[in-house]
Amino acid sequence: MTNVATASVDAVAGIEARIAVAAKGVGRNPSDVRLIAVSKTFGAPHIMPALEAGHRDFGENRVQEAQGKWPALKAQFPGVRLHLIGPLQSNKAKEAVQLFDAIHSVDREKIARALAAEMNKQGRTPELYVQVNTGEEPQKAGIMPRETAAFVALCRDELKLAIAGLMCIPPVDDEPAVHFAFLLKLARDLGLARLSMGMSSDFETAVELGATDIRVGSAIFGGR
Ligand SMILES: *Cc1c(COP(=O)(O)O)cnc(C)c1O
Repeated sequence: MTNVATASVDAVAGIEARIAVAAKGVGRNPSDVRLIAVSKTFGAPHIMPALEAGHRDFGENRVQEAQGKWPALKAQFPGVRLHLIGPLQSNKAKEAVQLFDAIHSVDREKIARALAAEMNKQGRTPELYVQVNTGEEPQKAGIMPRETAAFVALCRDELKLAIAGLMCIPPVDDEPAVHFAFLLKLARDLGLARLSMGMSSDFETAVELGATDIRVGSAIFGGR
């Protein structure tokens, strides 16, 4: 009998298969799409089976929660890449740079400056993604679309930060494809290669529209 925890191993395999179909359908190479298993709210016993099965990309949305479980798991499973996908406060920049291998939520100058300072100090270079508030929702994190070019230029030119790509979380009630297509165009215009977009309910659409990083939680680990 499969239990709740090992069901995640089958789920990862199932999602990889669906990514492959979606990618091939638009002439993309499936290995160009990275599946980030979002393990927020789940503890080590739930995460371990996926690690033991060889999965290496995981996402968390809170620095403090990640600090409680990932240092030990990273020590035990070499090659883990941990992605911060939730909002970052500048007073947590030190901890974020220490623990994470990619940060998907760079969205304002204060954070960019804090990250630049910590990366210089620690000699660590997590991959950085600028989060764009494509739906221009007042309550949502992310830089406004019209401010994105200037912000990316500030990061690159003044702060000497390598920006890997863009990230978005579409509004819940909108057609996600519109936002994914918009983010793709914005990234192309800015010469950015990577696109962090797509979650449990819409990752195939995201892959069809160029996603390189999809962030899937509940479809792997179950409801939260
Ligand atoms: C939780 C979360 C996800 C995963 O959402 P699911 O719908 O469970 O796949 C993706 N991205 C971000 C930013 C999240 O906070």
